[in-house]
Amino acid sequence: MSKKIPINKPSITELEVSYVNDAIANGWGEKCYDYIHRFEKDFAKYQGTNHALATSSCTGAIHLALMALGVKEDDEVIIPEITWIASAEPILYIGAKPVFVDVLEDTWCLDPQKLEEVITPKTKAIIVVHIYGNLSNMNQIMAIAKKYNLVVLEDAAEALGSEYYGKKAGSIADAGVFSFHGTKTMTTGEGGILVTNNETVYEKAKILNDHGRNAKDPENKMFWMRDYGYKYKMSNLQAALGCAQISRIEELVNKKREIFNWYKELLKDIPCQLNPEFEHTKNSYWLPTVVFDKYLNFDREAFFELCKESGIDSRPFFFPLSSLPMFEDRKGNIVSYDIFERGINLPSYHDLEKSDASKIVNLLIKFINTNA
Ligand SMILES: *Cc1c(COP(=O)(O)O)cnc(C)c1O
Repeated sequence: MSKKIPINKPSITELEVSYVNDAIANGWGEKCYDYIHRFEKDFAKYQGTNHALATSSCTGAIHLALMALGVKEDDEVIIPEITWIASAEPILYIGAKPVFVDVLEDTWCLDPQKLEEVITPKTKAIIVVHIYGNLSNMNQIMAIAKKYNLVVLEDAAEALGSEYYGKKAGSIADAGVFSFHGTKTMTTGEGGILVTNNETVYEKAKILNDHGRNAKDPENKMFWMRDYGYKYKMSNLQAALGCAQISRIEELVNKKREIFNWYKELLKDIPCQLNPEFEHTKNSYWLPTVVFDKYLNFDREAFFELCKESGIDSRPFFFPLSSLPMFEDRKGNIVSYDIFERGINLPSYHDLEKSDASKIVNLLIKFINTNA
């Protein structure tokens, strides 16, 4: 039986173990928030933002962020057609309406021009997603948002460590969110965080995340609140893991870049497109992604079968969200509908070896040669 190669898994060292051991042995009573506060401080410092609010998931952080940014029932929220479902679900929790917009062929991120075409008087917000580490065209998108008075949320769950004109992905718009699920670039098991430079947004999100409790309400009393809220809190144990991981973030991101470059070199003779890195951007390459040229007629389901036999976990490029049964399809989003079936993600966990990458690419080349 050959060694299994998962798509992703965390890098856990003695440092992570010692922090979590300390939290579980000592992080109680008056110390029960210490790692949470330290993690929020360290993360905000890394991002270069004024505020960070740790949460139990990125999905929860998106829900809080949309509410704190003022998205209400019946508002329209623009969102790229290609993303993980978690970017869209919180729009539905609020009773607002997701409007799926096509992506660009080169970045697989929101197309600014097509975005502008769907703006209506009901449009309230834009969620941009930096897919697989790739950067959205933030300069153009922020200019459009300003023109139409819209708020912008960056879903940077897949782009921790990516940079755009010297700024960290997630720190550019009105608010940004990240995920620390075990498959992401850094992990807290499950977890997420909301970052913002806007103090009002931060305060609102914090109150919403604490059952609506507001210490600054003039009528504030113990267990009394004006509005109901939610609870998407991160635990101190998870935050301890997060503190260790964020202290290793340069190492974790550098390894992602190294792994991507192995694939790039190994795939140089295959007619395909990989995650781009344009001038003034740095891609942290969460998932090395391959979109094969059309004429190859790449049958990804057949390739996944072959991978399974070899213990390799390759994944499909996301489906266009509007193609899912609970949404009305928007086949007019031609780029998204054209590329998704030709796209796959390759393993990129921290301890992946160059020989593993070679093994995967050799299998891929053999598959293409026998099937194309
Ligand atoms: C992983 C991911 C999320 C959700 O993160 P959770 O922590 O699992 O809630 C949201 N958006 C994108 C783009 C993701 O990749």
